[in-house]
Amino acid sequence: MKFAQVIVDVSAYPVDRPFDYLIPKEWEELIDTGCRVKVPFGPRNVLGFVVGISEESDVPVEKIKAVAQVLDLESILTVEMLELAKWLKHQTICYEIDALQVMLPGALRAKYEKYAMLIGDATQLASELQPYFEKATKVNVAQFEKANALKSLKQAVNAGLVLIENEVKQKGQVKQVRKVQIASLEQLEVVQQQIKRAPKQIALIEWMKPYAGAILMPDAICEAVNVTSAVLKGVIDKGAAEYIHEEVYRDPYTKEIVHTDNLTLTDEQHNALTKIKQAMEEQRQETFLLHGITGSGKTEIYLQAIQRAIAENKEAIVLVPEISLTPQMTERFKSRFGDEVAVMHSGLSVGEKYDEWRKIQQGKVKVVVGARSAIFAPFKNLGIIILDEEHESTYKQEDSPRYHARDVAIWRGKYYNCPVILGSATPALETYARAKKGVYTLLTLNNRAKSQALPTVHIVDMREELQAGNRSMFSQQLMTALLERLERGEQAVLFLNRRGYSSFVLCRDCGTSVQCPNCDISLTYHRYQEKLKCHYCGHEEYIPETCPECQSENIRYFGTGTQKVEEEIFKLFPQARVLRMDVDTTRQKGSHEKMLDAFGRGEADILLGTQMIAKGLDFPNITLVGVLSADTSLHLPDYRAAEKTFQLMTQVSGRAGRHDKPGEVFIQTYTPEHYAIELSKEQHYTPFYEREMHARHTAGYPPYYYLALVQVTHEDVVMAAEYAGRVAEYLRSNLSFDVSVIGPTTASIARLQNRYRYQCLIKYKIEPKLIPVLLQLIKLYRSEWIKKGIVLTVDLDPQMI
Ligand code: ADP
Ligand code: ZN
Ligand code: ZN
Repeated sequence: MKFAQVIVDVSAYPVDRPFDYLIPKEWEELIDTGCRVKVPFGPRNVLGFVVGISEESDVPVEKIKAVAQVLDLESILTVEMLELAKWLKHQTICYEIDALQVMLPGALRAKYEKYAMLIGDATQLASELQPYFEKATKVNVAQFEKANALKSLKQAVNAGLVLIENEVKQKGQVKQVRKVQIASLEQLEVVQQQIKRAPKQIALIEWMKPYAGAILMPDAICEAVNVTSAVLKGVIDKGAAEYIHEEVYRDPYTKEIVHTDNLTLTDEQHNALTKIKQAMEEQRQETFLLHGITGSGKTEIYLQAIQRAIAENKEAIVLVPEISLTPQMTERFKSRFGDEVAVMHSGLSVGEKYDEWRKIQQGKVKVVVGARSAIFAPFKNLGIIILDEEHESTYKQEDSPRYHARDVAIWRGKYYNCPVILGSATPALETYARAKKGVYTLLTLNNRAKSQALPTVHIVDMREELQAGNRSMFSQQLMTALLERLERGEQAVLFLNRRGYSSFVLCRDCGTSVQCPNCDISLTYHRYQEKLKCHYCGHEEYIPETCPECQSENIRYFGTGTQKVEEEIFKLFPQARVLRMDVDTTRQKGSHEKMLDAFGRGEADILLGTQMIAKGLDFPNITLVGVLSADTSLHLPDYRAAEKTFQLMTQVSGRAGRHDKPGEVFIQTYTPEHYAIELSKEQHYTPFYEREMHARHTAGYPPYYYLALVQVTHEDVVMAAEYAGRVAEYLRSNLSFDVSVIGPTTASIARLQNRYRYQCLIKYKIEPKLIPVLLQLIKLYRSEWIKKGIVLTVDLDPQMI
């Protein structure tokens, strides 16, 4: 007799161990580890993963139920993945089922049909299969199931005669595109009468007249008349046209890729690559920190390392943060490796993602370029793993399993004995600290690849601007510089640091933001209660009417949207052609790419945007970068605020002067004396690193201390608070006395989806008891608290607190 050890998918249930199920005789050859099955659990059949197969069971045979259904004829999870799931479970304290699910594409969780495709000679099929393939080459697997012919089908799969494919049912996922229908000629005349002093709007209406009644793409109109989308929207609001929505079908935006060859490396690049290749040759896991300034040619090193892996018939994973998964970035990989590259990002539909995953699983590609979850790409012979912009917080998943892609990369690197490259101009503090300790091997690129000079950075004190009577969001210096670019026909990038939208209060006269009396952190503005709160210790106070430092009444809530900036540019520089890139203008698929292409072709003078333009942009004609407000990220209630600001300033500045023309950068700020801003002028990482490490040491934050966060939520505020109190008490009485337990406090979002959220923060240096104590707590939660509607989560190494 054979038994399957199955991890069942009953996430609401406090079960987290494999259960034994009997494998019916006729399925013994069918069921393998890594297959999905349906098994009886309680009153119903549930989904499960087979994580092991054995000849015997500790459970008395008469009590063992049998597997009810086989879902996969081939394993969809390799032995490596099953091991990785076990490791993730311990590493992040999650349910094993969550760890298993996270490795699979969403399609395998959605509704789909399985088909058997005939790919070989039909005459070689078992006779019971042959009738099915007489008329068709594609047959629904359900038919074989009904006829009890799965066993023969599996043999056909093994013999390479048949391929099993899943087809996702894409219900309600029809894509829509927004178009513009132009009004009638009479209507256009009427609207034109209303417009007095807006020459661009009048020009647009004039242009529209021959097209009265036509349906056009908004981008095409803007392009033809050379106006911004804001101008178009202006006349639409007045009634000159209306937006309509049309359905489109899956047709990913494709364009021709020009093949590129290896560049001749600079000495620095060569030295770095040699070390990486050495590790590859010796088949040794080694983690490299490739610390290279912006434009130093890190990507070229990735490309050549990958080429080496491919030459050895191995595979490569390249992770990039979602926002820098720009077409420009992926194109660089496609132009070097062509069809060997799969791309995975959130812009793909469930079906498209599944297609890419399938290519990897079947060995049809050698390289995947993707966001965080691509770290689970089902390759079977990895030769290198790369994390670009390794400092990005998006590499940490915020839901269970709360894994960090960097840790998974290193785990997989060890499994395959292959190197891992962490690349960044501004590494995470803890990464750099590890490199200095020798845990990672530090590779440094100090010069730009084409030895262009770094751009000249000017820090502009916005308090002085205000004193000089300039209330615009553009300083005199930035305005002058912009005008120069417009005259010279060069391009500029304007960056709006929009994180922390409207969330903090700042004095416009002295630059002070309101601080918590207990923590070195800005208070957060809570609009509804009209209060300022500290997310670390729970302190709160009413919004001051005057600045606590200088008594000025010139207080403002921070946050300016891109649209507002666009309007202001329009007023200041009516002649400028502006491309606004933010979540609103890039919602449509492919629009991101089209906008960047247009900018690359010089169809706009100014590219205005948020985070999404901070990375990966590489255009020769950009000679000016303006940061409108450096402060927004500096005052976030986050101990990493300074680090993030420095990283962002360095990234953005790196967009200017990457080619022949020298670049210039203006960083506008109300706190020019802050070290994160001051040091970003020279763009030297090391002085910043040392200064920030000192600050972390003094304040007791990572990497000197570790953090763990326990969160408790409940629909009832009293219950949530009470159990959070119990958590704090439990932790305090069970952990060593030098571990600090902060809280319970309300979470930064005190209520989410109608659940009240409380949390306890654990700060520790060395605490061997931490994991056992947390596991004990979780046991208590799973056996008792869960019934009361409490949800408890544990995040080791939280990114956001
Ligand atoms: P990073 O990723 O470090 O910011 P990139 O890889 O984008 O830098 O390189 C910056 C620019 O330098 C790119 O235009 C790239 O094509 C070019 N480049 C990189 N390495 C070389 C080289 N060895 N010779 C000439 N140009 C190079
Ligand atoms: Zn003040
Ligand atoms: Zn505080």
